[in-house]
Amino acid sequence: MAQSGTTRNRVAEKTPASDLPQPVKVQQVRNTKIFINNEWHTSISGRTFPTLNPATGDTICEVQEADKEDVDKAVAAAKVAMQLGSAWRKMEPSRRGRLLHRLADLVERDRLLIATLESLDTGKPFLQAFFVDLEGSIRTLRYYAGWADKIHGKSVPVDETFMCITKHEPIGICGAIIPWNFPLLMLMWKIAPALCCGNTVVIKPAEQTPLTALHIGSLIKEAEFPPGVVNILPGFGPTAGAAFASHCGIDKVAFTGSTEVGQLIKESAAKSNLKRVTLELGGKNPCIVFADCDLQLAVEEIQKGAFYNQGQCCTAASRVFVQEKIYEEFVRRSIESAKKIVIGDPLDPQTTHGPQIDQQHFDKIMDLIESGKKEGAKLEYGGGYLGEKSLFIQPTIFSEVKDSMRIAVEEIFGPVLCIFRFKSQQEVIERANNSRYGLVSAVFTTSMDRALSVSGAMETGTVWINCYNALHVQTPFGGYKMSGNGRELGEYALAEYSEVKTVTFKMSETM
Ligand code: NAP
Ligand code: MG
Repeated sequence: MAQSGTTRNRVAEKTPASDLPQPVKVQQVRNTKIFINNEWHTSISGRTFPTLNPATGDTICEVQEADKEDVDKAVAAAKVAMQLGSAWRKMEPSRRGRLLHRLADLVERDRLLIATLESLDTGKPFLQAFFVDLEGSIRTLRYYAGWADKIHGKSVPVDETFMCITKHEPIGICGAIIPWNFPLLMLMWKIAPALCCGNTVVIKPAEQTPLTALHIGSLIKEAEFPPGVVNILPGFGPTAGAAFASHCGIDKVAFTGSTEVGQLIKESAAKSNLKRVTLELGGKNPCIVFADCDLQLAVEEIQKGAFYNQGQCCTAASRVFVQEKIYEEFVRRSIESAKKIVIGDPLDPQTTHGPQIDQQHFDKIMDLIESGKKEGAKLEYGGGYLGEKSLFIQPTIFSEVKDSMRIAVEEIFGPVLCIFRFKSQQEVIERANNSRYGLVSAVFTTSMDRALSVSGAMETGTVWINCYNALHVQTPFGGYKMSGNGRELGEYALAEYSEVKTVTFKMSETM
């Protein structure tokens, strides 16, 4: 899943043009309904909503709109699938692993189609979807497939007249609320650990990007997961999403999205049934570039960090602190590098930069770019958009950014690189940590001592040293402070999808 690489991706860059995968022609999208109990349902309200192609503004298709009543129906199905004695509950753990592997096989089989749907629905370049999102999704399924029969409890030494063991059991019905920036990958980050631990799931994809999740519904059925184990409900946040958070039949919600909605979800969870909540939220991620770094490496990694996925990443390299001595050269090389980005049709293999997700998000990014200009940051590159009525924003670089400016404080979630100047290590650590967010940070230096001491001081869940977006399914991911609660990926995620039960036997005889 290592997302490092780019705007395009290292594998794509090494592959001869004639061997690159090609998008498939999608005449008609097959899966557009609500997926409950391994069956396709129309919405109880009868409502549908359009999903759009952000590159053209065209409607790709109409999708059934789930609301609270549909969520009730899905939760009832998930509950039956989870009850004592059900096929899922009795299933040998290694067989759950086999099902996850089978799902991974089917995703591999349909990889071209799924990458095409992801590109059409999100506007991300097809090759990025194929090489990064699909690869990461398949690896996530296979990694957790391997864990299914290795989730061990312990035997705990206590008073000799007792025998005490712990068992790791599924939590129950897990809700997953997914954002639009990595719709397939975020879905896999949630369902793979949830299913490997033996839970059932109800999923709400983002309203802008429901199509790949719905395709996965068809593969869940084909893989022969028992009915009700996975249920997928396209719909809107304030209706279907809010119904997840307040539902007394849902035992846990895993959410990826904005900090503001994360707060609403935790509040509803507390007020309903105190369901478990894990949150992966926003970021305003500091990168510290010391004068002793490999400058070209730092420029290239940060550039990818800032502009990858049109800047629509919670991990975006959004506050780049560069030490005085190399400041001008860093800015100059960043501009040179940004000029190589190719904006265009996401399905074209040459394209490395697509449109933003929708008009509302486009307007928010442009407003922040305007605020940067007004507040006195120096616009070095970009700052505009292409064509009338298009959602394509140019990669944008600001220098001389001050800590109090809006572009320095607010999450932009767009292709905007903000470059700050710093003098000393102590000063930059304080400034880097001066944020409500704490998702990721990066340090560029050739001094191992400095790298280790600065990484120790960073208030973030991940620190990348001389690299960026180096995400791996084996390593935990999540935020400090208002960037989230809990961890996804790696062995750590298993704890987020299990309850620990203590079983104590009283022995009638002891030696
Ligand atoms: P968002 O508006 O918070 O939406 C995320 C999901 O929550 C969508 O499915 C949305 O549904 C749903 N939602 C909206 N209002 C809701 C409510 N009241 N109750 C329940 N669910 C609700 O975020 P976004 O704009 O899609 O994504 C951008 C944000 O996600 C950024 O802040 C980014 O940093 C964060 N993010 C974090 C990570 C991470 O791993 N930490 C990863 C990716 C993105 P609808 O879309 O259908 O309204
Ligand atoms: Mg769409």
